[in-house]
Amino acid sequence: MTLSSLETLQRVFGYESFRGDQQAIIEHVVSGGDALVLMPTGGGKSLCYQIPALVRPGTGIVISPLIALMQDQVDALQELGVRAAYLNSSQDWREAREVEQAFQAGELDLLYVAPERLLTERCLDLLSRGHIALFAIDEAHCVSQWGHDFRPEYLGLSLLHERWPQVPRLALTATATSATRREIAERLKLDDAPHFVASFDRPNIRYRIIEKNEVRKQLLAFIQAEHAGDCGIIYCLSRARVEETASYLCDHGIAALPYHAGLNASVRAANQSRFLREEGMVMVATIAFGMGVNKPDVRFVAHIDLPKSVEGYYQETGRAGRDGLPATAWLAYGLQDVVQQRRMIDQSEGDEVFRRRLGAQLDAMLGLCETVSCRRQRLLAYFDQTIQPCGNCDTCLEPPQAWDGTIAAQKILSAVYRLWRERGQRFGAGHLIDILRGKLTDRIKEYGHDTLSVFGIGADLSENAWRSVLRQLLAQSLLAVDHDGYGTLALTERSRGVLKGEHTLMFRREPEKKSRSRSASTRSKEAVIALPEAAQARFETLRAWRAEVARSHGVPAYVIFHDATLREIALSCPQSLDDLGGISGVGVRKREAYGEALLQCVHG
Ligand code: ADP
Ligand code: ZN
Repeated sequence: MTLSSLETLQRVFGYESFRGDQQAIIEHVVSGGDALVLMPTGGGKSLCYQIPALVRPGTGIVISPLIALMQDQVDALQELGVRAAYLNSSQDWREAREVEQAFQAGELDLLYVAPERLLTERCLDLLSRGHIALFAIDEAHCVSQWGHDFRPEYLGLSLLHERWPQVPRLALTATATSATRREIAERLKLDDAPHFVASFDRPNIRYRIIEKNEVRKQLLAFIQAEHAGDCGIIYCLSRARVEETASYLCDHGIAALPYHAGLNASVRAANQSRFLREEGMVMVATIAFGMGVNKPDVRFVAHIDLPKSVEGYYQETGRAGRDGLPATAWLAYGLQDVVQQRRMIDQSEGDEVFRRRLGAQLDAMLGLCETVSCRRQRLLAYFDQTIQPCGNCDTCLEPPQAWDGTIAAQKILSAVYRLWRERGQRFGAGHLIDILRGKLTDRIKEYGHDTLSVFGIGADLSENAWRSVLRQLLAQSLLAVDHDGYGTLALTERSRGVLKGEHTLMFRREPEKKSRSRSASTRSKEAVIALPEAAQARFETLRAWRAEVARSHGVPAYVIFHDATLREIALSCPQSLDDLGGISGVGVRKREAYGEALLQCVHG
C-alpha cells in the first residue's frame, strides 16, 4: 500500500499539516516535475524531497556536499522507520557494497551521496541498475561561482538531466537572491522548473545588532544574561579569532569549542559531534561551519565580526531556532569592521567587476547595520519580500533615535582633508578623533596637529559618538579607506556635497544601554523557559530519558525527539498512546518504539 503525501507526513513524521509551499512542491514532484525550492534555513526543505521519495516508487537520491553530516541525517530517518543509507568516502568497501546491493534490490527509500562520489563511473553505473524516484540536489547554491560555498563538483550535476531525463530533479537552497536563483537554474539545466520561493521570514528569531566596543566582554555578557546554558554558534572572521574567543569563553565558564579549516579533520569532526550530541555547547567558528547542521535547538547565533554579505548573514543566523522556539541573532559591529572589510576588498584578487560586487554586498550589510527602521523589513527586502515592522528586532523593540549629523560630518571631513596632505603616515581613526576632540597627545604635538584649524572643534561629542559618525560615513561611502596600506581615510566624490552643505545627514543614535539589555534579556529568557512548575519537572524527566536513549543509540538527542515535542508532552500530559499520536513530532514508528516509556516518564 502506498500512502498519500499527507498520510506520510502524519504517520511517518508525526506532523499535522504542511507548512507554506511544502504541499505544492511535494505534489509537483510526486507527479514527476522538476522544481527549484528556495526556503530559509530551518524552513522545512528536507520534507520536500523526503516525502516524494517515500511516495514515488524507487529510491530518492539526495546529493549533499556534507559527508560529515550524512550519518546523522540517515540515523534520523532510520529512527522514523525510513529505509535510508549513504555512500561516501567514510565507509569501507564492505559497508559500501551492502548499501549498493540494498539499492539495487529496491530496498532503499533514500540514498545520500556526495557529488564527487555520484559523478564516478562506478556510481553512475550503479544508479542505472536501480530504480530512481527523484534526484534532490541539496545546498544547490554550491553551484554558484560567486557564492562562498562554491563546489566545482556541483557543476557536473547537469549530467543527471542528460542521463535520466524522466527522473524529477529538485534543487534546494536557502540562498535566495534572484541572481543566485537564475544561476542555479541555468547551471543545473532546470530551464522549465517552476521556482517555489517561500517567505524568508523566520519570526521566532530576534535580530539584534549592537555597537562594538569590547566585543568579547559584550559577547560574554550577552550569553550570561540571555542564553546561559544554551546551545549557540559564534561566527568570527579569522581562525585566530576563533581560537582566542573560544578560549576566552572557556576561561569564563562557557562550554565553547573551536571550529575552522585550520584544525585537523579529526578535531573538527570531534568538535562537531560534541556540539550535536551534548547539551548547551557553544561552537565558535568561521563560516566553514554550519551548512547542513540541522540541530533544531540552537538558541543563538552571534557574529563578532561583520559578515561579508546579507545573504551569508541570513543563512548563518537562520541556523538558530529551527524548532520554532524563540532564538536570538546577535551581531556586534564597529568602525574597525568597516575599515578592515573595505581594505580587504581593495586588496582582494579578482577583477574590477568582482570587487564591485563585493563592495555592493558589503554596502547592503552596512545598510542593515545602520538602519533606523525594522531589521527584518530590511533583511527581507534584500530578498525582494515585504513585511510590516516585525516587533521582534532591536529597532522595533527600542527604536534608536535619528539625529542630524550634518555638522559633525562636515567637521570630520574637513579634518580628513587637512590630514590628507600627510598621507602615508599612520594616522588612523583614533588620531583623527583626538584632533577633533582637542587632545594634546604626543603624536599630535610631534606632528604639530594642534595648530590645525580643526583642532578641538569636536569637543562636544564623545569619542564613541565620533566613532559612530565615522563608521556611518564609511558605511555610506562618504568617506573611503585609501589604498596606501595604512588605512588612511580619504574623501570621496560624494564627500564634497556634504562639505558644501548640500545634504542633510541623519545618523543612528543607540538607545541607552542599560534599559536595553535588561528588558531584552528578560523577554527572550521568559519566552523560552515559561513552563509551569509541574510541567517543567516532567520536561526534565523526559530530557533525562531522551539523553539515555540517544546515548545508547549513538545519535544526537534531537534525533530521538525535539525539545518542542518533549515540551508539548510535558505540558499536555497525554494519558494514552492515542493521545501521544496527536503530538507534533510523534509518528507511528516513534510511538511504537517509545510510547510506553514516554507515558511512564510523564506519569512516574
Ligand atoms: P531546512 O532544511 O529548510 O533548513 P528542515 O527540513 O531541517 O529545514 O526543517 C526544519 C525543522 O522544521 C525540522 O525540525 C523539521 O522537522 C520541521 N518541520 C518541517 N516541516 C514541518 C511541518 N510541516 N510541520 C512541523 N514541523 C516541520
Ligand atoms: Zn523589526
